[in-house]
Amino acid sequence: MAFEGLTGRLQSVFSKLRGKGKVSEEDVNEAMREVRLALLEADVNFKVVKDFVAKVKEKSIGKDVMDSFTPGMVIIDIVNKELTELMGGSQAKLAKANKPPTVIMMAGLQGAGKTTTSGKLAKLLQKGNHRPLLVAGDIYRPAAIKQLEVLGEQIKVPVFSLGDKISPVEIAKQGLQHAKDNNLDYVIIDTAGRLHVDEDLMEELKQIHSAVNPDEVLLVVDAMTGQDAVNVADSFNKQLELSGVVLTKLDGDTRGGAALSVKAVTGCPIKFAALGEKIDALEPFHPERMASRILG
Ligand code: GDP
Repeated sequence: MAFEGLTGRLQSVFSKLRGKGKVSEEDVNEAMREVRLALLEADVNFKVVKDFVAKVKEKSIGKDVMDSFTPGMVIIDIVNKELTELMGGSQAKLAKANKPPTVIMMAGLQGAGKTTTSGKLAKLLQKGNHRPLLVAGDIYRPAAIKQLEVLGEQIKVPVFSLGDKISPVEIAKQGLQHAKDNNLDYVIIDTAGRLHVDEDLMEELKQIHSAVNPDEVLLVVDAMTGQDAVNVADSFNKQLELSGVVLTKLDGDTRGGAALSVKAVTGCPIKFAALGEKIDALEPFHPERMASRILG
């Protein structure tokens, strides 16, 4: 289960606070020391933890909270609100083009779940009565085109592919035209990933970007990789201006670092969470629900 360690640690901090009829400044300091350690252990970015704890402390220490009937509960509520803020506050919705089709470009490192997520997103859009097109732009990973075609077939969403001999920029352009010609309202472009962020990858993504002028650039990152996922998001964002992040593999036993750090570090909201390999295991990301889940 994701966040298990973090949830357990926070619950034990808060059960101590909740039990107290009166909370002293020293109690708050002690609780915040423990919250700090719990977050660091969950692989949350160091600076994010520092700012978070400072904010919660500032709001918790004061007459209003300490003189309340249930100071422990009030502090838990403050933590809940700040966790929600940390993840973006409210749900960041998918952009929509003024004039269809809305173009969504998917980016990410190999293995993060980009191709799978493209299929899941198509399914989600289809459920909302849209007509998406999947574009197979990952021509380097041998199985990627086939994988997308299989996904498309499974959910009855068309897949535009030109094989692996034509440049991804050309594929993206023609894919977009195909969507326009066929009255499809969303275009999801799967792009190539590499094992590491490198110049060739970025250059190709920038070229695709200028060829199709996407409404959304979604970076798919593997939540299991913790701070690495955040660093990847940071470097992509510096080169490509992401509009959102998709966190995958939240069904695994990820500690929480990526979910809690990515927005604060990159400024880029998490728009979707993937919780499994199945085609319908993608959900819009709700910061407030995630915060409640983390608090257990
Ligand atoms: P890509 O190289 O980024 O296109 O990655 P793929 O889409 O091929 O995914 C890599 C692996 O991760 C595949 O085995 C997927 O089934 C798996 N995967 C993707 N998303 C999730 C997820 O949310 N949870 C789990 N458990 N596995 C996932």
